[in-house]
Amino acid sequence: MSPRLRAFQSAVAQVLRDLGRGLLDIIYPPRCLGCGARPESPYLPLCPRCLQSLERAPDTGVAARLDRLATGGEVFNGTLALWVFDEGGTLQAVQHALKYGNRPRYGVPLGRLMGQAFAEKYPSPDGVVPIPLHTTRRLERGYNQSATLAEGAADALDCAHRPDLLDRPHPTRSQTGLSREERWRNVQDAFAAAPECAGGQWLLVDDVLTTGSTTVAAAQTLDEAGADTLYLATLGLARQ
Ligand SMILES: [Zn+2]
Repeated sequence: MSPRLRAFQSAVAQVLRDLGRGLLDIIYPPRCLGCGARPESPYLPLCPRCLQSLERAPDTGVAARLDRLATGGEVFNGTLALWVFDEGGTLQAVQHALKYGNRPRYGVPLGRLMGQAFAEKYPSPDGVVPIPLHTTRRLERGYNQSATLAEGAADALDCAHRPDLLDRPHPTRSQTGLSREERWRNVQDAFAAAPECAGGQWLLVDDVLTTGSTTVAAAQTLDEAGADTLYLATLGLARQ
């Protein structure tokens, strides 16, 4: 299939998905993914009480996780995760809705919360860069969940959303079920950075940090291309 035809089919699929979501929201109004109550904002997946009850990740949680990697954790000038991510927990329900449940609109307000928390600790960067998905997977899903978070974070930080600065030209296997070493080998050389990243201060955004090997590989690619300062913010930090 030609790339143009594929892009056209993807655009048509996106319109149908948006239409389907709109109809579904009328028939089944969105409920809080934590307790089932009607949320105050239809754009947030949780009611204020469930949002408050999420466990905040410790300040040094991400840095400590990246220290366990053989190399590369020091590529970041500052790191932040909003909440602790538990298998089967409320935040996983949120992540699933964001990632697989065709609810990309949840990403922007959650990204704003990430941007606000980031602004309390660090200066505003030049732009926010989402961890990209490989093109095939993005076309399957219709969107990149990290890009919706990045869009919200950029809005809160009043800076640019720059999904164009990082590409993922090589497909990688899913990281699920791989050991730490296997994960690292799997993502090395997966990314490509645009030359415009040189000299800039960038905030990398992803949904959940597990070992951190994907985000560090992405950051090293920007670093090698001449990025000046790199930060990292994630919605969740997987409990280990
Ligand atoms: Zn709730």
